[in-house]
Amino acid sequence: MVFKCQEDSFLKEFTSKVVKCEKTKDPIIEYGKTIKFEGYQVTLENTILFPAGGGQPHDIGWLNDKEVLQVLRKGDEALHFVNEPLDVGTEVTQKINWDRRFDHMQQHSGQHLLSAILEKEHNLPTTSWWLGADECHVELASNVSDSTIQATEDRCNELIRAAIPVTVKFCKANDPDLAEAHTRGLPKDCMETIRIICIGNIDENLCCGTHVSNLSQLQMVKFLGTEPGKKGKTNLKFVVGNRVTKFFQRMLDREKALTGLLKNEPNKHEELIEKLQKKLKVTNKNLQNVLSELAQYEVDKIKNTQPRPKYVFLFKKEATPDFNRAICKGLENESLFLFLVSEEPDKPKEGQIIIQGPEEYCNALGQQIIDLLKGKGTFKHGKFQGKAGDLSAINKCKKLIEDYFNNSLS
Ligand SMILES: [Zn+2]
Repeated sequence: MVFKCQEDSFLKEFTSKVVKCEKTKDPIIEYGKTIKFEGYQVTLENTILFPAGGGQPHDIGWLNDKEVLQVLRKGDEALHFVNEPLDVGTEVTQKINWDRRFDHMQQHSGQHLLSAILEKEHNLPTTSWWLGADECHVELASNVSDSTIQATEDRCNELIRAAIPVTVKFCKANDPDLAEAHTRGLPKDCMETIRIICIGNIDENLCCGTHVSNLSQLQMVKFLGTEPGKKGKTNLKFVVGNRVTKFFQRMLDREKALTGLLKNEPNKHEELIEKLQKKLKVTNKNLQNVLSELAQYEVDKIKNTQPRPKYVFLFKKEATPDFNRAICKGLENESLFLFLVSEEPDKPKEGQIIIQGPEEYCNALGQQIIDLLKGKGTFKHGKFQGKAGDLSAINKCKKLIEDYFNNSLS
């Protein structure tokens, strides 16, 4: 069946009769993410709401005032997902979320255009494509050079400026026209309706999606670089039309935020960040040296305390794992119960803990401390080293240790 949206991609409102309405628990798939759903699937005589297919995500919109959250193709039918039922036989007004649909049309027609140029002018056929919430990509069988990407982008934008018409042709299975057209990204259930999208005399491609009527409606194609795809393939990322403007705006906002933070002009950002990274490296090294001296000092102080303490409780927010390990090592033969805590630098509620000491003390206190701090880790050779999930009970731990050594052992 050819749906109304495939006859006229620019229809924004349409009236049709409800043919079927059934309960469903089928999930909603939104740009690859699965969302649980419980409601109704409505079939109409015809629809302007595009059911997902050919790499193009489904439309959303309304049937009267009821929101359509997903449209799925099932054989010859388009199933409209709504929260409440609709009466079979009644006429409903369909409305489409046009911003979303037009965005999909720009990305989809843009993909046809750039895939045609990559294949015809650079011998790089598209093996599949993806239309995501923010970015799209075409999957290519081999690597693509920067110069090819630039040449393809320039060529696409030149054709967009030339405002080449995009037309739809319908034909039968034995039509000789069919041999001319590609079947890139065509789902099997589209095969009954043979629909060819033509971009001037540049490309003919079998497709069930909704497309622009003129390349000028694409505004612009922009490539965003490549990343490794599945099985040694290459994904070439791109955006078309309004997404280019949105992408550019996000970049400007980030640049403005960085300019504010770095207090300098954008062309100095890179240089400034490099300088900051170098400085941070030196600062960190100096801090390590100071902390290792401090650890030695703490060890000496504890060793020289008279009378000798039975336990050490040390909570240093800024302590590094190296600092705590140095203290443990310095005191490992002192028959002392050691409890060392530090905070995670970017998660102050969480931390690192070390518990070490004679078996008797560790048995009495270890597990209680770990439980209080929601610790994760294991005791190995009389020593616990692990993560604390919640440091808010740290004072309780301190009291526990104090009471144990002051009361039960006195
Ligand atoms: Zn297509």
